[in-house]
Amino acid sequence: MFQITCHTRTSKETGKKMEKQQKSSHLVLVMLPFQGHMTPMLQLASILHSKGFSITIVHPELNSPNPSNHPEFTFVSIPDKLTESQLSDKNVTGLVWSLNKTCPVPLRQCLEKILHSHHHIAALIYDTQMYCAQTIADDLGLPGITLRTSAATTLLLYPVFSQLDEEDFMSEIKSPELQALHLQRLRGLLSQNPAKEMMEIRVELTNALKSSLAIIVNSMEFLELEALSKVKQYFPAPIITIGPLHKLAPAICSSLFTEEDKCISWLNKQAPKSVIYVSLGSMASIDRQELIEIAWGLSNSKQPFLWVVRPGMVRGSEWIESLPNGFEESVGERGCIVKWAPQTEVLAHAAVGGFWSHCGWNSTIESICEGVPMLCKPFFGDQHLNTSYICNVWKIGLELQNLERGNIERTIKRLMVDMEGNDIRKRAMDLKEKAAFCLVEEGSTSCSFNGLTKHISSASET
Ligand code: UDP
Repeated sequence: MFQITCHTRTSKETGKKMEKQQKSSHLVLVMLPFQGHMTPMLQLASILHSKGFSITIVHPELNSPNPSNHPEFTFVSIPDKLTESQLSDKNVTGLVWSLNKTCPVPLRQCLEKILHSHHHIAALIYDTQMYCAQTIADDLGLPGITLRTSAATTLLLYPVFSQLDEEDFMSEIKSPELQALHLQRLRGLLSQNPAKEMMEIRVELTNALKSSLAIIVNSMEFLELEALSKVKQYFPAPIITIGPLHKLAPAICSSLFTEEDKCISWLNKQAPKSVIYVSLGSMASIDRQELIEIAWGLSNSKQPFLWVVRPGMVRGSEWIESLPNGFEESVGERGCIVKWAPQTEVLAHAAVGGFWSHCGWNSTIESICEGVPMLCKPFFGDQHLNTSYICNVWKIGLELQNLERGNIERTIKRLMVDMEGNDIRKRAMDLKEKAAFCLVEEGSTSCSFNGLTKHISSASET
């Protein structure tokens, strides 16, 4: 486990020194209000707090975190002016675009208030998708540092996006790892977003990245070595890989939904490595027919399964009312369905032998850290990139090509029962070991954290 060392100064040290240290230790963190972004930001806050920094978290009103879960932080809510129709639309790109239009004024006022009340701000750390914060940091003369909650490779996609179709650019990429990611395919998939808003986000986000003092990524160096060296060519700031954050701050309570612990007692009754855990994260949705296909695919696979069906995840349904007749009877005690699971605990459970995931970055990292092989069904955005890493580069999972019951049944068996699954499982266990090594005292993550805190301290002194 990563060792956090806090040096306590003796009373002999001068008051002035103490004052200077305290002044330079206040950080303001700006959050993007989605589950997969809030969790790593709160984890980062917790780690930096344990290293002696005081923390203020500024967040839009949407999905406000519960301050009573984090009494050690100061929370400031800023108006986001999101409308009901924007929220019901569930268009993530549109929401990110809107937040970056509505938040700058209240965010600036909030920072000015902190500065006017004589509180020094050592650095402004913002979610990369709250890129408006970098301009405000520049205007106020504050060091701006960005936290990327996706793979570091996504940073490459922004500056080179328009070149991804060009023969020259692709043939220039000699690295087998990058070739295996099929970046050209990603261009098509990423272009599905509303063109105007996505275009603007890409430009402004890239500009923010280029001005930031450091780029922190919840990743591990060994996972994306070749992409990282390419990313570094595009941005002057150091890229600091500090993952897996959830292992460094395991106690943080950041769930927007209520975790159903009953699934752990159900897992306790299952054989080792027999259960396929199915979760599509906090945002992806399916239609009723897809729910039915998944249900029969799981049932026919004959494997025990733990299935998270978030309320609202099935379009046009409240929860699981569209499950087919006969499904419950055919499954009996072999299946457990919950609205939200304590995912990191589930993945660490001895009974779990596979993770059918939408391949959000947090889920991907959490699965790697427990050595759980994956079944990938990406929906949008970086989930496609993560799937390419999982299936083509690290080779710790299989891609589910479509949501048809026969295909689901076969692919689950390939992963959980067939010989093919053994090799995948072995590679997943190898990655788990490498991930754990990042956290030892001389590991890459531990070194990165030391570098980050030094970086913040020196930036705030200049
Ligand atoms: N998660 C959870 N319980 C669930 C499903 C998901 O705690 O039942 C957590 C999961 O551990 C992860 C986050 O929600 O930390 C989802 O983030 P991810 O980046 O994987 O996907 P997103 O929700 O952003 O699409």
